[in-house]
Amino acid sequence: MSEQVTIDIPPQEGRGFWIAKGQTFRVIDPEGQQVADMWAIAINAGENDWLSTSQTRDITERLFPAPGESFYSENARPLLTLVQDNSPSPHDMLFPACNPGLYERAGLLDHPNCRDNMLAALQKADITLPIVPDPVNFFQRSEPQADGKLEVLASDNPPGGNVVLLAETELYVVVTACSVDFHPTNGGHCTGIQIIVG
Ligand SMILES: [Zn+2]
Repeated sequence: MSEQVTIDIPPQEGRGFWIAKGQTFRVIDPEGQQVADMWAIAINAGENDWLSTSQTRDITERLFPAPGESFYSENARPLLTLVQDNSPSPHDMLFPACNPGLYERAGLLDHPNCRDNMLAALQKADITLPIVPDPVNFFQRSEPQADGKLEVLASDNPPGGNVVLLAETELYVVVTACSVDFHPTNGGHCTGIQIIVG
């Protein structure tokens, strides 16, 4: 058995980590109501492959995988399996990461954002992708409504709410503690996210 490794992601920041095939990790929202965006990249000799929310919706025929189901890659390979969902939140696989344009539309310039935090984590690992994939937004409450409206409501994740994922192949995983602080998304203020690997 390998030892557990804890990664504390400060508010409005992101971190990347390598995970081996067969390893699990837990994404924890210690204080509650904090969305965690997640990306996963499989490094291949020819072309890197990455978690695709659209492929996952197609293959699982769901808006979010149920425990026991997987997240799939751009090339339709299973990358991660949701082992446990210890959160009442619906999670999200429809929204992009928060990005400079989102904040600029709210009049906020040079605001921390999940897109830039993710790109910085990729750069640290010397990984490049041809696009910025959309993340899985754990603990995010933005289910489609009957009239087709998509509204992000305040997360209902309680302190300690978490999900556990199993790596189906070796992956570089990036998680960001979402930076949205001008909207109820994260309960009105941003807190950190904790990762426990192993
Ligand atoms: Zn965000």
